[in-house]
Amino acid sequence: MKSITLENISKSYQKSEFAVKNVNFKAEEGEFVILVGPSGCGKSTILKMIAGLEEITEGKLYFDDRLMNSATPAERNIGMVFQNYALYPHLNVFDNIAFPLSIKKTAKNIIREKVTATAKMLGLEDYLDKKPKHLSGGQRQRVALGRAIVREPDVFLFDEPLSNLDAKLRVQMRTEIVNLHRKFGATSIYVTHDQTEAMTMGDKLIVMNDGEIMQVGTPKEIYEAPQNIFTASFLGNPQINLFDGTLTGNVFKFNAESTGIQLPEKATSSDYSEKATLGIRPEFLQTTTSDENSIATKIINIEYLGHEKLLYFDFGGLKCLRQNADSAYSVGDKIRISPDRNKIILFDQNGNRL
Ligand code: ADP
Repeated sequence: MKSITLENISKSYQKSEFAVKNVNFKAEEGEFVILVGPSGCGKSTILKMIAGLEEITEGKLYFDDRLMNSATPAERNIGMVFQNYALYPHLNVFDNIAFPLSIKKTAKNIIREKVTATAKMLGLEDYLDKKPKHLSGGQRQRVALGRAIVREPDVFLFDEPLSNLDAKLRVQMRTEIVNLHRKFGATSIYVTHDQTEAMTMGDKLIVMNDGEIMQVGTPKEIYEAPQNIFTASFLGNPQINLFDGTLTGNVFKFNAESTGIQLPEKATSSDYSEKATLGIRPEFLQTTTSDENSIATKIINIEYLGHEKLLYFDFGGLKCLRQNADSAYSVGDKIRISPDRNKIILFDQNGNRL
């Protein structure tokens, strides 16, 4: 097992533009780290630099204390699992899993032992003589996992491995991958654009946007204390509600006419008066009859989800609050809404947390 450290790593494919800009993070030995962000933000580029499949333009990559910038992929002893499985179509399941051992000229009896044990662990023992085209998506991804596991790598890299699976299988494979990690404890870096995978799978989340790291923390830290509007909006479904307004001392006003929301502690100094954004998650908004610290609005849509209802209203854009499934509101009802003031997150004009 190894720790992985990226120090001021940048990557440019073309001379002028950087796909990855000055990235710093450490995956501790045995840690499961998630790199999450929208498509094109540089996640795969980072994985490829760690795997030795792309050159590092600037910065240093370490496995433990060893500088790895110019190590060959083989020297890095990495197991990679890709979105498209990357199986050999002409080989059966046994030979696909055995492939990394066969090219290392491992003894036949050892190959058989290891492949059989790996296939058993992944529930593939009845499919060993099948070709990939006869397998379901989930089984193919298990074969790809088996091929990564069988070589006993120091590090696992996952590049959106569940994106091609249907919703039900994704849930199942999430648990399987997390349990495999618990079993092997190998340092793992997992790339996804899916916020549910990010929230549910990792010890440490690295949120990226446009080649840069926006925030690093546990899922709970990032959900509860996002450092900027990008991170706040990226995690959470439905998204955090964002209200533009003005913050004067301790009072947030949505517009000139509104009485405003009195914040519980001094968010800013008393002479502060600036445009700001108030962020509040849908679970921390409630309906009220009081005029104080509330806004008047109208329900424009209700989504019934079985265990809860989502009430939508328009207040400077579409906003949402969660209600119990038996809540009696109807579309068109006029309501007042107030936030749990202890859960408000304020952002400055540049979108950074105040
Ligand atoms: P992600 O994995 O987050 O979707 P990528 O790392 O694939 O993002 O891409 C980051 C940026 O680098 C994108 O703008 C993409 O177009 C660019 N890019 C990726 N691979 C190449 C390449 N081989 N040549 C040129 N540009 C690339």
